[in-house]
Amino acid sequence: MRVLGIEGTAWAASAACYDDTGDSVFIESDPYQPDSGGIHPREAAEHMGEALPNVIDSVLTHAAETVDDAADTATNDTDSPNRYGIDCVAFSQGPGLGPCLRTVGTAARAAAQALNVPLVGVNHMVAHLEIGRHQSGFDSPVCLNASGANAHLLGYHNGRYQVLGETMDTGVGNALDKFTRHIGWEHPGGPKVEAAATDGELIDLPYVVKGMDFSFSGIMSAAKDAADEGEAIEDICFSLQEHIFGMLTEVAERALSLTGTDELVLGGGVGQNARLQSMLETMCEERGAAFDVPDNRFLRDNAGMIAVLGAKQFAAGQTITIEDSTVDPNFRPDEVAVAWREGEQS
Ligand code: ATP
Repeated sequence: MRVLGIEGTAWAASAACYDDTGDSVFIESDPYQPDSGGIHPREAAEHMGEALPNVIDSVLTHAAETVDDAADTATNDTDSPNRYGIDCVAFSQGPGLGPCLRTVGTAARAAAQALNVPLVGVNHMVAHLEIGRHQSGFDSPVCLNASGANAHLLGYHNGRYQVLGETMDTGVGNALDKFTRHIGWEHPGGPKVEAAATDGELIDLPYVVKGMDFSFSGIMSAAKDAADEGEAIEDICFSLQEHIFGMLTEVAERALSLTGTDELVLGGGVGQNARLQSMLETMCEERGAAFDVPDNRFLRDNAGMIAVLGAKQFAAGQTITIEDSTVDPNFRPDEVAVAWREGEQS
């Protein structure tokens, strides 16, 4: 089976071809880089409109060149509209920025109609989880999604991915980006915080965990105030990482304990951070749990994870009509019927 995946919830205009023969994923992405400040939704949507046709075109060119490798091609007739062997088009239906999602939805509908194949709507956050499950080979892991606009723990129960704990305010990457914007650094701030943190020492900042939920707004205000008062930026960056990743690790451990699960996967762009990975690894080692991190290309936003989950949904019969393909900026992961795991124990 071959799936064309399309992603564009915020900053990454991305297309991918997933081929289940050989489990190969070809990804082409074009990131949006704001001239100043953070992500402007209208500018990001304009970027999607310009970049998506090109990345989709590159992926289809690759698909046409490798069509003979696919075991189950739809056709290899070079005059056919689907000379790429694509079986369905999967796209990010939400959550994300409305103007970006609407552009992605339009691109996906057009591609599915041009290729004459069904459409599959994918929840972007469930895709972050499923690529971790797919790559690790874990059976039923808890997932910590640490991304730009989100931060939550997901676990499988009764045919759904339940939100076990989540941020009560901003997403974890957005919190870091707001701090770096305040001190005048270019977007995205997360990698710059990681680089600066290597030379820092610990200062006291707010640490807010309430049961299974956590909050970043207080720590961000305190970090901005500390910078305004002349505290060393390296110390603030180091301390932001220790406090924020400490909160995420504490709640991840509680999620493992509450669910009785002994497998943890990491998802999302902030998951590329080595300090976060090492804290989670140590916690898992200490409690005898297995821990896995997908390749970096699958952590940040990418269409590869959309295509891989799209293939599972397609195999489970989860295609949608054009009428049902409306995007949803607030699409929560627990709204998704996990049909591809039907029959599995919780
Ligand atoms: P979502 O998946 O919730 O829609 P998103 O669209 O913002 O999030 P992601 O690619 O998951 O995109 O994450 C981007 C975020 O990751 C940015 O906030 C960026 O600062 C952060 N980030 C990237 N690399 C690192 C790093 N090494 N350390 C910390 N944060 C990082």
